[in-house]
Amino acid sequence: MAPQSTDILIIGSGPAGLTASIYAARASLEPLLLEGEPSSTGDQPGGQLMLTTDVENFPGFPEGVMGPDLMSSLRKQAERFGTKIETVKASKVDFSSRPHKVWVGDPDAEEPTYLAQAVIISTGAKAIMLGLENETELIGKGVSTCATCDGFFFGGQEIAVIGGGDSAMEEANFLTKFADKVTIIHRRDELRASQIMQDRAKANPKIEFLWNSEVIGLNGADALESIEVKNNQTDEVTTLAVTGMFVAIGHKPNTGMFDGQIELDDEGYIATRAPSTYTNVEGVFACGDVQDKTYRQAISAAGSGCKAAIDAERWLEANVH
Ligand code: NAP
Repeated sequence: MAPQSTDILIIGSGPAGLTASIYAARASLEPLLLEGEPSSTGDQPGGQLMLTTDVENFPGFPEGVMGPDLMSSLRKQAERFGTKIETVKASKVDFSSRPHKVWVGDPDAEEPTYLAQAVIISTGAKAIMLGLENETELIGKGVSTCATCDGFFFGGQEIAVIGGGDSAMEEANFLTKFADKVTIIHRRDELRASQIMQDRAKANPKIEFLWNSEVIGLNGADALESIEVKNNQTDEVTTLAVTGMFVAIGHKPNTGMFDGQIELDDEGYIATRAPSTYTNVEGVFACGDVQDKTYRQAISAAGSGCKAAIDAERWLEANVH
């Protein structure tokens, strides 16, 4: 089949991609959005908010909003102004000449599926998980990867934070605003976090450390009730009665497909030319968590999606139309 041509192709349908779609559609650019498709590894259209329950910090919702409902509203808003949404996952890109080429399905197919003058990348990032059996099912029911998002729900409870890096220290400190006790569980006896973050956590009377320890099981069907922790020096297993577990062992940007096509930083995030969303490739823009390892919020992703659409629109006007 001959490739389909479009002015703007947006890859990824989290808050960044959908906001970019809304802006591009309202600029009469008839964007095409590849929203992805569900996979066994946890990928899904709508991104990370599809895995959350209450979102209470997205402006405009005084009563809060469920993550999937927010994404469904953003999707409807994007469609209302003429975004064409395809439930497919891009498999390959070729940004070496214009128009840019994007494949869906067989990456070895000779013909790309789409030709796009401008591409907006908003493929997001994934929180790295521990890989425990019912971990994904318990997300939003005690298991979380974002203290800023979910800490508020753990008032007066005892919770665990997993990891020994800056994120774990930061999340643990933040969580002591709500929780009665926070146990940081780290697999070694030495933290990776910067000294100042370590010192802050160690000085916090609500924080305790469990060293050389790994979580090997989660108990609870509808909500987390406790976790099984193994000391990797003694092999002793104990049950820790926590109703919250924050996994803070790092994030991985969804950029595998772009390696070699576009400049990535040393952690694999797309390098953008702040304050714009320009990448090092003409006509390719990036927004949301795929280029942001600092803020990682739905609202900051949405804000950068707006910027990407405006950057792409101006670029098209200057270079194509
Ligand atoms: P990180 O520095 O990569 O630390 C990840 C931590 O998780 C490490 O302690 C690691 O243990 C542990 N870990 C990894 N895989 C694990 C597994 N399967 N099971 C148990 N533990 C596991 O990640 P991060 O803390 O998210 O930080 C990422 C970057 O952002 C860093 O450059 C950090 O400095 C920066 N950051 C800065 C701030 C700040 O300055 N305010 C806040 C957050 C993040 P090992 O130590 O044994 O490898």
